[in-house]
Amino acid sequence: MNVVGGNSLIAVYPGSFDPVTNGHLDIIERASKLVDKLYVSVLSNKSKNCLFSVEERMNLLKMITCDFPNIEVTSFYGLLIDYAKIMNANLIIRGLRAVTDFEFEFQLALTNRSINPDIETLFISSSTKYLFLSSSIVKEIAYFGGNIDDMVPHQIKDILLDKVKD
Ligand code: ADP
Repeated sequence: MNVVGGNSLIAVYPGSFDPVTNGHLDIIERASKLVDKLYVSVLSNKSKNCLFSVEERMNLLKMITCDFPNIEVTSFYGLLIDYAKIMNANLIIRGLRAVTDFEFEFQLALTNRSINPDIETLFISSSTKYLFLSSSIVKEIAYFGGNIDDMVPHQIKDILLDKVKD
């Protein structure tokens, strides 16, 4: 058991996951080894228009994480820090790509910490090969018929290609 202050480690990895990419999956796999329980949680209140519904995004995540015994896919509405508390989490996981992610992520982590200092934010750096990978880039490439084989889990590929045809 991984412990912090005598408690088991429960983490929330939040995001839009519209759709989940290999960059997300890499963070999910690495985070799941560090903690006892990992909630991969789809944020449902983002103002940006998403290609996939919350339910579809959750189903895609469930498809690729079903072999991980300590992962559960959920969704939430409202403030992440409140949600983390409801789930009894002591960690929030975020992935860091290039420097461009840093300022926003740092601000978010500091704000969350000022609201609830009992919940830590843990940054996991992107693997080099996924440094420039984002859901929006993948959608753009899929839309214009480019090759997305190395960008999304194989179970997701055809679903995404079908979706962008709609
Ligand atoms: P996106 O910017 O792709 O819409 P999300 O809101 O779904 O991303 O991101 C959820 C979390 O996953 C964020 O912490 C984000 O920094 C991280 N993340 C996204 N893509 C990658 C990647 N290629 N490598 C590492 N972390 C990533």
